Amino acid sequence: MCKPQAKVVGVMEEDKKMKQLKMFEEIGAKLKKGFSLKDFFLSVLLIAQEGFGFYNGAVLLEEDGKLRIAASIGYPKEVVKTLLIDIEKGEGITGSAAKERRTIVVKDVSKDKRYIPAVVGAKSEIATPIIASNSLLGVLNFETTELNAFDETDVKSIEAIASLIGAAILNHKLYRKVKEELEKLSLLYRLGREFSKTIELPELLPLIADLIKKSFHFDHVAILLKDEDGYLRIKQASEGYPKELKKNFKVSIEKGEGITGSAAKSGETIIVNNVKEDERYIEGTPGIKSEIAIPLKVKGKVIGVINVESTVKDKFTEESKKVLEIIASETAIAIENALLYEQMKKAALIDELTGLANYRDFRARLNSEVGRALRYKRIFSLVMFDIDFFKDYNDNNGHDVGNVALRKVGEILLRNKRNSDMAARFGGEEFIIILPETDRRGACAYAERIRKEVEETKFPGEEKQPNGRLTVSGGVAEFPADGSTAKDIIKAVDMAAYAAKNSGRNKVICGKST
Ligand code: GH3
Ligand code: MG
Ligand code: MG
Repeated sequence: MCKPQAKVVGVMEEDKKMKQLKMFEEIGAKLKKGFSLKDFFLSVLLIAQEGFGFYNGAVLLEEDGKLRIAASIGYPKEVVKTLLIDIEKGEGITGSAAKERRTIVVKDVSKDKRYIPAVVGAKSEIATPIIASNSLLGVLNFETTELNAFDETDVKSIEAIASLIGAAILNHKLYRKVKEELEKLSLLYRLGREFSKTIELPELLPLIADLIKKSFHFDHVAILLKDEDGYLRIKQASEGYPKELKKNFKVSIEKGEGITGSAAKSGETIIVNNVKEDERYIEGTPGIKSEIAIPLKVKGKVIGVINVESTVKDKFTEESKKVLEIIASETAIAIENALLYEQMKKAALIDELTGLANYRDFRARLNSEVGRALRYKRIFSLVMFDIDFFKDYNDNNGHDVGNVALRKVGEILLRNKRNSDMAARFGGEEFIIILPETDRRGACAYAERIRKEVEETKFPGEEKQPNGRLTVSGGVAEFPADGSTAKDIIKAVDMAAYAAKNSGRNKVICGKST
């Protein structure tokens, strides 16, 4: 009678072992796949519940000295949400297992003072610490509706599962780190590609700000550049930055104003992980907790600052600093190139001697004015000036003095024009002005004012001029009355100026109908 009984027990033991082996295989298979930790915990709990027939189970993770349920089965929602176990105090059986760092098996919970009832009907409980690399990560906990439900094999299996969970958590952390590293590398790669693609600042800066923001999940990214007056101003801000702030914000580098100004002054990155405790902090956007300011340097000189803010405290680590500094140095070079390019582009459209627009820029603007006037049935006028007897002036006073006179006439034109007007050097000693939305009468009044001012301006050596003074002759043409294409309107204004020469110089001829 005894033997068969023993045999039955033996078969049951074998069965259990097979079942548990299968269970480990399943857990192993889950581990191999890409996983989210929570999903992994849940599948482990489910597999264990099936394998052991437990009533409920939970993976609790340690956070700031407390245990909180990260995944569970069979527990009421409120318990999952609110349960916080103090490890220091060794609260409950779970807290004790964590504090003592050993598995605790309770055969009858009703007889254990440590027991905190969370579910109805629990009779026995097991809590085993999850430990990896010698640190306590959490606790694995099971309860059953039977008394004394856990034998030695169960304990060993549950401890093995706990160590698998520990390894998974470590792997996951490592995996996340590797993934982050890869993301940073790919960010640098993408930045490099963007930099080589675009050279204009208005395109480049938003790209940089956007890439930094998205890649690191920061809240605000602003790129500030140093202006000629030594102040840093926001040239680009990521979405969510208040417009007013973007427009009006400026900090002195010399005074090291704010965290941004301090970084620019010292040339060193500044990390502030709690802005409230830093008196340099100037609040821009509400809710900001931490900030990093990385100076943009070209050949050791600060040209601006990348400023990154986060609504999370302690967001910026030495690690993020390193990566952002690499990005900043690439960015600084790209910005410098873009600035040079912009200067060159500007120079290509400016007449070097007078600082007025050059012929090329004038033609481009004329074409767009013609297009606009035709499209919207508007008018505009052209005024042309030619210096009288300028050959004589050069011959008598020298080319350099001639240049000074050209510059002076240019200044008079600039001083008298409106913002929307364009004054250009048309050629040698000829000037042309576009006056949008201005009719012949208005243009004529303007031209006459210029003529008079030139006449009244003192030019050195002008008394030797054939008419005793340095003067200009001017012509006016109105679009489209005097010419309805760019070519024709130029021809018309040239003819008007020529007519002024022919009628005695130091005159303005106001076109066809005058
Ligand atoms: P008019 O009253 O008929 O316009 O006589 P003008 O002598 O002004 O006309 P002309 O076309 O014979 O001479 C133009 C002079 O302008 C000749 C040239 O040396 C001078 N000039 C053109 N460009 C420059 C320049 O950049 N600097 C200087 N100093 N002189 C220039
Ligand atoms: Mg001329
Ligand atoms: Mg002339």
